[in-house]
Amino acid sequence: MSAINIGKLISGERRSLAKAITLLESQNKEDQIQSNELIRKILNKTGKAIRLGISGAPGVGKSTFIESLGLLLINQGRKVAVLAIDPSSPVHGGSILGDKTRMEKLSIHPNAFIRPTPSKCKLGGVASRTYETILLCEAAGFNTIIIETVGVGQSEIDVKNMTDHFSVLLSPKAGDELQGIKKGIIEISDTIIVNKNDGELKKHAKQTANEYQNALNVSKNEHTTIFTCSALENKNIDKFWNYILNSFKIKQLESKRTKQRSVYLNKLIIDIIQFKLKNSELSNSTFSHLTKQVESNTISPLEAATIITNKINF
Ligand code: GDP
Repeated sequence: MSAINIGKLISGERRSLAKAITLLESQNKEDQIQSNELIRKILNKTGKAIRLGISGAPGVGKSTFIESLGLLLINQGRKVAVLAIDPSSPVHGGSILGDKTRMEKLSIHPNAFIRPTPSKCKLGGVASRTYETILLCEAAGFNTIIIETVGVGQSEIDVKNMTDHFSVLLSPKAGDELQGIKKGIIEISDTIIVNKNDGELKKHAKQTANEYQNALNVSKNEHTTIFTCSALENKNIDKFWNYILNSFKIKQLESKRTKQRSVYLNKLIIDIIQFKLKNSELSNSTFSHLTKQVESNTISPLEAATIITNKINF
């Protein structure tokens, strides 16, 4: 791949940014070396954006909501990058989130950048490149980064760990839908947004919000706040954004970023070890044999783990 022009990337040229992300996602060893060098050079331009995670089952209105929020922020002079984590495609193409008809106005706005991002790299196991994509977007001058997930995969906790505010979007009458999103997602959410609070659905939206509020009260959850909104009618989106601005503690940002980096480092180490293990000399049958021996108390977990990890070729 041809070299990325860092000057152009930093000046916010979208083509250079797109090329840099493609380089990042490449499985080619040479590209990976180039990509690491590029990221090292832009690290001092990263970390200052507000990073939001927005999750929700398909159909709850995520793209409508993000379009509405994104346009509001652009009107306020912000630059918005939307990274949609796509569980349906390990690489690009055939994605449910990459659909070009989504976020029609936002996607053509010069101050917005929308990109589907694979939930896993092709080789599997090794973490997706979402975190590094955030860094590239920040270096390119995007000061608001929205990470969208569909709430059914493994990505939510990772997104929570790399963002400043994590929201789950629900439809009114969410009972059924909630089953479609992963358990535990409510607990990690800073805000629950009941969307489609308009027309006929208004009374259901209120009811849904009340039900969630009761559930939060019962579980003594005081850190999660509930909003109702209508992404379609652009109602309450500004209230949500003001809430985020008020809770965004700029003074604590550097210590938060420090923590996020170290959490991500540990995640990467585990991912890489698991990947190497999968590709090690250890066959599946040996692995399951050892697992059975541990389960039946024939050998200790420590001994089995030592045998297994000794097979990893570092
Ligand atoms: P996504 O799959 O979560 O990205 O959902 P979409 O944004 O594509 O929306 C799914 C459907 O819900 C579309 O038909 C939207 O027009 C509709 N929708 C989205 N937001 C609202 C809203 O606030 N009110 C109403 N009534 N419909 C909405």
